[in-house]
Amino acid sequence: MNPIIHLGGEHAVTGSCHLLQIKGLNIMVDCGIAQGSDPVVPMERWPVKPSELDYLFFTHAHIDHIGRLPDLIQNGFKGEIITTHPTKALLGPMLRDSMGFSSMTEREIMKLEQTIDDLSWGFEYGQKFDLKKGMKFTLGRTGHILGSCFIRFELNNPDWSVIFSGDLGGKDAPILPDPDVPEPADLLVLESTYGDRLHEHRQQRVQRLGNVLAQALSDRGKVYIPAFALGRTQELIYEMDRLFSDPHYQQAFPVLSFASRPPVFVDSPLGLEVTRIYSNLSKYWDNEARHLRSHGDHPIDFDYLYAVKDYEDHLRLLDLPGPAVIIAGSGMCTGGRIIDHLKTGLARQANDIFFVGYQARGSPGRNIIKYSKRRGGYVYLEGKRVVIKAKVNTLAGYSAHADQKGLIEWVESISEKPRKIKLVHGERRAQQALAKALEDKGYKCRLAQRASSLLAHSKMIL
Ligand SMILES: [Zn+2]
Repeated sequence: MNPIIHLGGEHAVTGSCHLLQIKGLNIMVDCGIAQGSDPVVPMERWPVKPSELDYLFFTHAHIDHIGRLPDLIQNGFKGEIITTHPTKALLGPMLRDSMGFSSMTEREIMKLEQTIDDLSWGFEYGQKFDLKKGMKFTLGRTGHILGSCFIRFELNNPDWSVIFSGDLGGKDAPILPDPDVPEPADLLVLESTYGDRLHEHRQQRVQRLGNVLAQALSDRGKVYIPAFALGRTQELIYEMDRLFSDPHYQQAFPVLSFASRPPVFVDSPLGLEVTRIYSNLSKYWDNEARHLRSHGDHPIDFDYLYAVKDYEDHLRLLDLPGPAVIIAGSGMCTGGRIIDHLKTGLARQANDIFFVGYQARGSPGRNIIKYSKRRGGYVYLEGKRVVIKAKVNTLAGYSAHADQKGLIEWVESISEKPRKIKLVHGERRAQQALAKALEDKGYKCRLAQRASSLLAHSKMIL
């Protein structure tokens, strides 16, 4: 029995959207926007109308998991939205930001925000709750971002259960507790973003961050960090706080000592708003972060950290000479304030750009990495041709996604093998590598088809 239809994010990292049809219920898990050239099935080609959905579950508040909610509501969705408390708190700011780029008026946005608030419900982790028709669900921590969860559905008659992993983080992520171990299930729908990679350890990557910052200081350049407003920005602030406050790192990087420390700017209104929500929800932090705070070091704040909220201040920041560290969105350089910085800063040799997250196919971020390796390489940013002379660094260890080892360890932590594992949310190469590694350990794995019939069909009309 396979009651799941993937409407996005089946064989791509973004655009997550899955439909579970069981006992006459239509349950959607995530409804995200696709980034770069990743495909999704257009709503008019779905097998159900948005008005026929009973429930919409969100695994977390990244826009590639929630971004189509406004569309869904405008097309008649009036079911219940179920997620964790922190994700519910993050839905409003995240969607408001993305709706800001649409043609919607302020009044329409406010009305939609109210509707989202009315329809959505926050639940605690680790408890079993009842849905209609004997269906039950549990939400578990995944260590990806604040509020992220896997979802386990179970049914008694027929006896059947499924886990949607959502985005799974690594162990030892900053701020967040490690992923929970789910109860066994018949089917596991597992993400595979970094199914073919192994990340650096946390200490190594903080070390690398320290190296890049020290280098940036030595040539008085700027360090640009394109970062997702939600998750990555807070992790970076946290790691820099460690770098600046932990005696071990102070010794390793004397150049980052208090006297000569570069200013760090968070040039992102959304990043600042999300950081405020992170700060308020310390109940969901891990022990290390809570310990730091109780000993007088706020883990997502430090001296020389500046908030750049107003647009005028953003423009002033563009003219500020280095050295400086600038964290700005969007994470894949598809838009946002980072573009203004890169339009001028990418052509200067003294500068560094530091990629800390996944870059989707076709995104400017991916192109910058690719073309920086060529002599005279350039990239188009909002139609402007910009030569890449800045040093381009990638730090995959910063990914909020588990690597192959982390994914396998999480699967192995489940006390019984799932009857089947369906890999989603990854590029083909990553899925193949992860499938092989899981099969070697005796798991039954199914890859996403290169393109499901639904996707293939919808692609023809695009
Ligand atoms: Zn995510």
